[in-house]
Amino acid sequence: MSWHILGAGSLGSLWAARLARCGEDVTLILRNAARLQAYQQAGGLTLVEQGQAQLHALPAQLPDDEQPIQRLLLACKAYDAAPAVASLAPRLASGAELILLQNGLGSQDEVARLVPQARCIFASSTEGAFRQADFQVVFAGHGHTWLGDPLRPQPPAWLDALHTAGIAHDWSLDIHSRLWRKLALNCAINPLTVLHDCRNGELREHPAEVANLCAELTELLQRCGQSSAAENLHGEVQRVIQATAANYSSMHQDVQHRRRSEIAYLLGYACQAAKRHDLALPHLQALHQRLQGHLQARGLPSH
Ligand code: NAP
Repeated sequence: MSWHILGAGSLGSLWAARLARCGEDVTLILRNAARLQAYQQAGGLTLVEQGQAQLHALPAQLPDDEQPIQRLLLACKAYDAAPAVASLAPRLASGAELILLQNGLGSQDEVARLVPQARCIFASSTEGAFRQADFQVVFAGHGHTWLGDPLRPQPPAWLDALHTAGIAHDWSLDIHSRLWRKLALNCAINPLTVLHDCRNGELREHPAEVANLCAELTELLQRCGQSSAAENLHGEVQRVIQATAANYSSMHQDVQHRRRSEIAYLLGYACQAAKRHDLALPHLQALHQRLQGHLQARGLPSH
């Protein structure tokens, strides 16, 4: 069975190259004719790993191609996920499976609502990759990917292919808990790095701000029925700040490069969830407003 991968960006290319080189049948789906032409001119995807570049001339097609899709890895940003799936929904074969790589929460439900006939598998990944040029991706940090289906506990048979491809992963019986935990870590760290324009490690100079956010995020997780995701959140946030002290957060990088951020699926989602539960979280809400103001002042989308 073949893989369709939508989005030849950082994570999409990282998955595509590793699956293809162990013999899996991989086809890329690119945004439009101009992107397809640029891809063909580049001669394929290049993955740079430990300084070694390897070109993979994978087949690529447009969303409106007629080939049916059995298994789709959705590797775009959270705000592009639902429109991208809508554009190829008629191609989904019966029993199709979608693997949703988006960070944060909210996009998974938007997609699942669009394609109730398909199985949606949610993923949460700590792997790191970035685009050094068009269709050239650097594998920057080894990590782990958790996959799970909130509706069906049985793992899919193709997990073996991920194993063969060297994609470190586990099947999670509580993928929501993983996604919530990562969302909370992101909300406690990333917006502050943007507002203070600093690396993660410099947040050690703002311990009260971090502690207040962690306390409110813990309350939110508990109220949302995510008590295991809430456990020792502050301790883990401090550990991550320490372990990634020299890094710029993904949101900081997005703002620095004037790219749209995933704010709506991180802090925006958290504030909406608080509102639904009638929970007043003044630090989190003030942080959201400050971040939106910061983005608007720079002409960047604030949602
Ligand atoms: P990225 O490098 O920006 O790649 C996204 C790709 O999706 C782009 O190539 C974009 O095309 C493509 N795309 C968007 N809409 C499309 C459409 N309708 N049809 C076809 N292609 C479309 O993003 P990323 O860094 O891989 O991130 C993907 C998700 O993974 C995000 O939610 C991110 O937070 C999460 N994540 C990323 C990392 C990482 O290290 N990068 C780690 C963990 C989680 P264009 O090239 O034409 O713009």
